[in-house]
Amino acid sequence: MYIVSVLVEHPVQSLDMTFDYLSHESLLKGVRVFVRFGYQKIIGYVEDVKETALSKTELEQQAGFHYQYIQEVIDQEPLLNEELQQLALQLSKLTLSPRIACLQAMLPSQLKPSTNHSVGLKLQTVACFLQEGKAKTKKQQECLDYLKTHSPTPIKDIPYSKNILDQLVKQGLIEYQKQEVYRKPLDFFQTTNQDIILTNDQQKVVDGIIAHPKRVALLHGVTGSGKTEVYLALARYFLNKQKSVMMLVPEISLTPMMVKVFKERFGEQVAILHSRLSQGEKYDEYRRIKRQEVKIVVGARSAVFAPLENIGLIILDEEHDASYKQESKPRYLTSQIAKIRAQTHQATVVLGSATPSLESYSRALKGVYDLYELKNRINQMPLPTVEIVDMVNETRQRNYSLFSRRMKEQIQATIDRHEQVILLLNKRGYATYLQCQDCGEVVKCPHCDVTLTYHKDEHQLKCHYCEYVQSYPQSCAHCGSTHFKTVGYGTQKIEEELEKTFLNAKVIRYDVDTTKNKNSHFQLLEQFKKQKANILLGTQMIAKGLDFENVTFVGVLNADLSLNVPDFRASERTFQLLCQVAGRSGRGSKAGTVLIQTYNPEHYAITCASHHDYQAFYQQEMLYRQKALYPPYCHMVSILIQSKHEDILQIACQDIKNYLLAHTHQCKILGPAHSVIYKMQDLYRQRILIKFVQGKDVYEALKTMNDFYNKKQKGKVTVICDFNPYSQI
Ligand code: ADP
Ligand code: ZN
Ligand code: ZN
Repeated sequence: MYIVSVLVEHPVQSLDMTFDYLSHESLLKGVRVFVRFGYQKIIGYVEDVKETALSKTELEQQAGFHYQYIQEVIDQEPLLNEELQQLALQLSKLTLSPRIACLQAMLPSQLKPSTNHSVGLKLQTVACFLQEGKAKTKKQQECLDYLKTHSPTPIKDIPYSKNILDQLVKQGLIEYQKQEVYRKPLDFFQTTNQDIILTNDQQKVVDGIIAHPKRVALLHGVTGSGKTEVYLALARYFLNKQKSVMMLVPEISLTPMMVKVFKERFGEQVAILHSRLSQGEKYDEYRRIKRQEVKIVVGARSAVFAPLENIGLIILDEEHDASYKQESKPRYLTSQIAKIRAQTHQATVVLGSATPSLESYSRALKGVYDLYELKNRINQMPLPTVEIVDMVNETRQRNYSLFSRRMKEQIQATIDRHEQVILLLNKRGYATYLQCQDCGEVVKCPHCDVTLTYHKDEHQLKCHYCEYVQSYPQSCAHCGSTHFKTVGYGTQKIEEELEKTFLNAKVIRYDVDTTKNKNSHFQLLEQFKKQKANILLGTQMIAKGLDFENVTFVGVLNADLSLNVPDFRASERTFQLLCQVAGRSGRGSKAGTVLIQTYNPEHYAITCASHHDYQAFYQQEMLYRQKALYPPYCHMVSILIQSKHEDILQIACQDIKNYLLAHTHQCKILGPAHSVIYKMQDLYRQRILIKFVQGKDVYEALKTMNDFYNKKQKGKVTVICDFNPYSQI
C-alpha cells in the first residue's frame, strides 16, 4: 500500500496544503490524479509517495480518519521534470504563493490541475502499403504502386479517391492506421535559412556574449540598431552547440513578428507558446517541446517555464516591459525566473532593450551584469528628429481639436508622399466616460470605483477592470435626464476623427478590441506592412518592436496619459513608451520624424525622449529615486488587503501594520492607504507599502502574516504580497 500526498486546488480557500490518499500502486511524483474532495472529483498533483506495510484499517486507526483511494491516474509520466518541480517550490517561496498556483502558472491552460476537461491528441488516418499483389483494376494498381513509395500518407493527401483506397484495403493490400498530427500555429512561413552578415558592432556584441557564458548580459541598443539579428546569431551559435534557446518577448502584440523571423530562420525547430494559441495548439506545442522535438521556444512571459532541456541561452527582448511581471498569483518577474533557470542549466541570459529598466541598467553599471551597447542604427541611419507640441498653446490659439495644427500638417504631408504614419494613443475605447448633461453624474461601474468606458462599435459601456458590460443607459440614474455627453477620447473616437479629417486615408486600428481574434494581430500588421493602409493607430501595443520601412512619421497624441498616473515608474514608463514609439519612424532608407503632443513640454521624460538621450534620463530619474527612496535604491513589497466589508478591512489593516512594526527592523512601512482604485469587483482595497534596503526579517514576517490571513480568516480578508510591485492599482 502507498500513501500518496496530493496537492489540490482548494475550491474555496487559497491553501497551500496536501491531502493524503491511498493507492495500491506506486505513483511518480508530479503526475496528475483524480481524487475525491468533499463531494467533488477534482484533479490534484502527486507530491509525495510513501510505501507502508500497514493495511487501510490499521492506517485509519492510527490517523483517526478515513482514507480515500486515488480515483484515477491521469498522466503516464509527470508533466514537469525534476527541474521544473523544484522551480515550482522555489517560486512558491519567493512569491508567497501556494504551490498549486505555481504549478498552474507553469503549465499551458488545458494541462492545469483545475481544469477537468483536457484536450486530446489530434489523429488523422493514413494509408500504409502492406504487400505486393494484383489489384482488381488499373486505377487501383496505380494507387498501390503509388503507396508503395509513399507510405504512410494521410489519405487526404493521396491523389486517388477514397473509394479506390477502400477497395485496396478490402483486398488486403494496404491498411489504414491512425497517426498523430500536431496542430501547429502560424505554419505558413517559408524558411530562408539565410543569416544576414552582421555589422562590426553587432559582431562585437555577439563575440562578447559568447566569450562570457553563464553571465547576464544587458544589451542596450537604440531602436533600429539590429538587436534581433544579434539574437538570431546567438541562437544559431547555441544551437550549433546542441543547446536549446528560449526567446521571450513581451505580451502578445510583439510575438508574431519575432515568431516570423525565428520561423523563417529556424523552421521546424521552433515552438511557439503564448496565450493566443488555441488549446489544441498549445497542448501540441508543449508536447513538442517536452519530447525534445524542438530546440527553440519563442513566447511571452509564461514561456519561461517551457520544458526545454539543456538550455544554453535565454533572451528577454524589451526587457523593461511591464508585461514581464505577472500580475496574478504567483506574482513573479520573468527575468528572475530566467536567471534561476540559467543558473541550473549554466546558460547565458541576454536582456535586450533600447530603454533598459533602471534596475537592470544600474546593475550593469555596477558590474553585476555585462553591458553591451549598440549606439547607432543599421547603415548609420539617423534616429528620427522629434518635435514637441505644447497643447496649452493650441488651446490658446483656439484649436480644441485632438490634433494640433502641426500634427494635421505632418500626417497629410506623409500621406501625400505615399509614406505611412503610426499614431499612438494610449487609451482604447471610444470615449473615456459618459456624463449626464443635466446633473453632471458620471456613469460608473457598480463593482469598481472607476468610470465605465464607452465603446461605440457595440454601443456599450465597459469596465476595464472587471468584466462588467452594460448597454447605453436610457436615463441618468441620479436625475432621470436622458441627455448624456461623451467625455475624453479613445482609439475608436480618434479613428473616426481621422477618417473625417483625412478623407482618402485608410486607417488600421490596432488595440485590444480589434485584435481579439486569433490571428488578427498578425493579419493587421501584415496589411500595414503591405501598405494597404496609410495610418496605423493604436495603444501602446504598437509602440514596440514593429519594423515597417515605409513609416516616416510617428505622432503621439497625448504623452501625458502615462505621466499622470500615481506610480513611481510613471516617468520611466513615459520615457520608454516615447522612445519606443519614436523608434518606429524612419527605419527604412528614408529619414523619419516624430511629433509629441503634450501639456508638459518641459518634463524631463519628454525632453530626454525627444533627444533620444537615455543617459540624461537615467541620471535625472536615479536622483529622484534616491531622494524619494524607490527602487533600485531599495526593495519594495506591496501588500494588498481586500475584503467585502470595510470595517473588517480596517481592523485587519491595523493588525497587519502592528504585526509588521513589531517583527521587522530597519524598514519603512507606509500606509495603510486606500488603493488607487478603492473598490474593485465588489472588494474594498487598502495597501501597505514596505521599503527596505537590508531587511532580512521582512520576508519571515510577511510569510507568517500571509499564512495567518490566508488560512485563518476563511476568505473574509485576503492578503496579497507583491514583491517588486509594478502595478499599484
Ligand atoms: P531593433 O530590434 O534593434 O530595433 P531590428 O533588429 O529590428 O532593430 O533591426 C532594424 C533593421 O535593420 C531591420 O530591418 C533589420 O532587418 C535590419 N538589419 C539588422 N541587422 C542588419 C545587418 N547586419 N545588415 C543589414 N540589415 C540589418
Ligand atoms: Zn443626471
Ligand atoms: Zn468593474
